[in-house]
Amino acid sequence: MKSHLKNSPPIPAPLAPLGRIRDITPRDVQAIQQQLGVNSIKDVITAIINGRLETVEGLKPAQIKNIRRAFKLNKTADSRVPLWDARLAGEELLRALCQFPEVEKATLTGSLRRSKDTIGDIDILLQLSEADHRKLLYKIARMAQTERIIATGPHHICLILRNQLQADIRLATRKYFGASLLYYTGSTQYGDSLKSMAAQKGFRLGPLGLVDMQTGEYVAGEQETDIYHQLGIGYLEPELREDHQSMAALQSIPPLVSFSQLKGDMQIHTNWSDGTESIAGIARYLSHTFPHYQYIVITDHVSAKRPNHVLPPADVFRQAAEIDRINDQMGFGYIKKGVETDILENGEPELAPEVLQQFDWVIASIHTDFTRDNTDRLIKACENPYVHCIGHPSGRMIGMRPPYPADWNAVFDAAARTGTALEINSRPNRLDLNDELVRKAVRKGVKLVINSDARTLSHFDFVKLGVSMARRGACSKKDILNTGSWEDIEAFKAAKQQLLRS
Ligand SMILES: [Zn+2]
Repeated sequence: MKSHLKNSPPIPAPLAPLGRIRDITPRDVQAIQQQLGVNSIKDVITAIINGRLETVEGLKPAQIKNIRRAFKLNKTADSRVPLWDARLAGEELLRALCQFPEVEKATLTGSLRRSKDTIGDIDILLQLSEADHRKLLYKIARMAQTERIIATGPHHICLILRNQLQADIRLATRKYFGASLLYYTGSTQYGDSLKSMAAQKGFRLGPLGLVDMQTGEYVAGEQETDIYHQLGIGYLEPELREDHQSMAALQSIPPLVSFSQLKGDMQIHTNWSDGTESIAGIARYLSHTFPHYQYIVITDHVSAKRPNHVLPPADVFRQAAEIDRINDQMGFGYIKKGVETDILENGEPELAPEVLQQFDWVIASIHTDFTRDNTDRLIKACENPYVHCIGHPSGRMIGMRPPYPADWNAVFDAAARTGTALEINSRPNRLDLNDELVRKAVRKGVKLVINSDARTLSHFDFVKLGVSMARRGACSKKDILNTGSWEDIEAFKAAKQQLLRS
């Protein structure tokens, strides 16, 4: 991996991690140390951030890139990948790592475990049966997924995968697995508050466990829950380990919503509009794949204005008859008749009340004018008696366009006041509402609906991403409308009529 020349200068211990980076020779370390006057890794990181690494004579751009990557300083907005892609790549990597006999446990950590909507790199923690890691590091370097190694250490390997994502794999024995998991899951801010809380109680907390500061004795570290128990606080779900709230506030959050609690998917597109699958095919697939669903809502785009990939209003009757026919065959009303209608420039839905009234569920969405302030359009749509839910309320497309400007407090007030649900759209490039807006909406008492917005069968899994956003927004079952039965949905619709009348 690197050339250890005869007469190469010794690497001072505090700079040892530099020497473990690919293509960095002891001479390079010496050059960095002497030319930048650095004596610790902290100094090196400061020098990288200040752009001084580039001034070291003799360092090549590729070497600088490796150093930046090894210290996770290679991040830019566009080097982040959507959570969905990172999850798929991370899970594939976990499966590959679990094949090695010395790996007892493998789990995702970092922002991937916290389910942030975009991910910088894939962090993984392995529990190993043996203390000697050299053989395993050698095997990891030769996995099919590995393109090249960036850096290795006694308990760490950093690599670039063939899909160009960076993976940081940490190693721990059973005794320290929980402590390492807590440490590497982060976030940094959360870790720091936990550390100071531990210090107040006389403990030191780090990847090597919870240690009694007076006696130096190891107190806990096998499981994350052991550490929380010793600190006298409840376990905190990874999705909540950010810096938004105080420790005390985090303790009072009720159990978070889970995918298994969802009773239906309420935005689905079929081959009647812009989807690829038939209604019957979708019903067959979902009733087998997600048996806990009690209902699904078909919500094709119905429009007289858009030329392509929509259902003309004249065909709504035909689609309704098809749904009735399939429900009859299934023996119960599994498939509900819904629609996604455009919110026009003036905030009115495109479809007339007589059309909207035929549906079991009406989603109104903004599909035009993404740059203007859309507060008035969103409020007007909430006030419409035939609209049950606002689809992808903020209009953001991750990596493409930010949410449109809106006074979200006013929008959430309107949704709560009119009994209109807001969507958590689970498409990987939408995740809309995002975690922060979800948190604000539920605080105002707004009900949310987690939908796949599927166009094809593989999209139905996206709902798990929407559940992650809901969990990051501290939602419990009661905040999510589609954890309820269809009777609950009907009651929600009836309540809206009541609220508008009062
Ligand atoms: Zn839409």
